[in-house]
Amino acid sequence: MYLWNLTDISVKPDHQLLNDSEWHKAHKAIAAWKNAPAANHACPRCDAPGLAFADHSVRPYAEWYKLSCSKCGLDVTMHLPLAPTPGASV
Ligand SMILES: [Zn+2]
Repeated sequence: MYLWNLTDISVKPDHQLLNDSEWHKAHKAIAAWKNAPAANHACPRCDAPGLAFADHSVRPYAEWYKLSCSKCGLDVTMHLPLAPTPGASV
């Protein structure tokens, strides 16, 4: 059985750099970016347009997104764990 060693991943979640409001806005920004990658999304910290996204996901284990803003210097990695949907058939 193959086990993925998560300690080998060099990119670590950095959400402690975001306050609660920024964390919520960042999640919304990622969802909006998934639906419209070419749109101009706002920074969760300074609201400036032009938030940059980089997908560092290791599917199907986790989604990781690096968010950066050239205006305020925001540079964080968001970790979204993937889990089976309760009740979903496999
Ligand atoms: Zn910003």
